[in-house]
Amino acid sequence: MLVVFKRGASEGDLDGLLELLKQENLTGHVSRGAERTVVGVVGQTYPELRDKLELLPGVEEIIPISKPYKLASREFQPWNTTVTVGGVTIGGDRLVIMAGPCAVENEKQLMETALAVKAAGADILRGGAFKPSTSPYSFRGLGEQGLKLLAKARAETGLPIITEVLSAQHVELVAEYADILQVGTRNMQNFILLDEIGKIQKPVMLKRGMSATIQEWLLSAEYILAQGNRKVILCERGIRTFETYTRNTMDVSAIPIIKKVSHLPIIADPSHGTGKWYLVSPLALASVAAGADGLIIEVHPNPDKALKDGPQSLNFDTFRQLTAQLTSVAAAVGRKIG
Ligand code: PEP
Ligand code: MN
Repeated sequence: MLVVFKRGASEGDLDGLLELLKQENLTGHVSRGAERTVVGVVGQTYPELRDKLELLPGVEEIIPISKPYKLASREFQPWNTTVTVGGVTIGGDRLVIMAGPCAVENEKQLMETALAVKAAGADILRGGAFKPSTSPYSFRGLGEQGLKLLAKARAETGLPIITEVLSAQHVELVAEYADILQVGTRNMQNFILLDEIGKIQKPVMLKRGMSATIQEWLLSAEYILAQGNRKVILCERGIRTFETYTRNTMDVSAIPIIKKVSHLPIIADPSHGTGKWYLVSPLALASVAAGADGLIIEVHPNPDKALKDGPQSLNFDTFRQLTAQLTSVAAAVGRKIG
């Protein structure tokens, strides 16, 4: 439930509530808006609690949150969350473009790509160092060496970096290098990993599980939020359906649904969403038209030679064409670019 304080409520009133919640073994998540302070109460609540809270000094009203996810819901926070990294704000009026190779392969490949995507208008560099791999025989990433190359690319281009963290034991290491941690589709319900990421104040992009409902996805976001990390970004990356023409089915409808039911920013990943490079631009444009806060796009200097996800990677030319096309679609839905 949500405890809404009166306009003139004091810090003492807020402390009184938080103290009472502690006694009840509940957690209060404070959110200070321009108009009013609200506290999201999470944990095992009971019907009489509402009456108790209503009587506290400074309290205006108690609003039950109908959804199973609480802190992720728009009921908890009506205004949009924004997450800022290295001067780039995600969830604001500017569209944010993340781009780079699926996997960091070597210094030359990464540096060339970083410079090319930056020149074409990207705001953030992506690249996997710890790669999830369906086959144990495929390339699984350079590990810490890949993180070091990403840090070098950031130093040379000024682009913040996003990279995947595969397991709870790597959170500290990856967080040392990355500006945004990525949780991949296969780990969306790795609850131990989500707990660990929730305990640090590092922005995180949580990809939708390939077979997860929107509610399950938001409950996973709730794990991170409930631990105290509010810097959560969602990413729609396609879901498994009966269709085999595409690698996944890009669920563009998830974008306006998330906007309706949650305050968290949402990024679209048409690379994994389609699995085919020539479908990336159309679905990128559709996602922006549907209200996405940004895109994450796989780009490689020579997709035919890529160690991972070459068939869905744009080359420098096709990426440049996409960013040029984006400007007018973004403008049509009131977003700026660049
Ligand atoms: C990736 O971004 O390269 C990746 C592995 O994504 P996903 O977890 O969506 O498959
Ligand atoms: Mn990939």
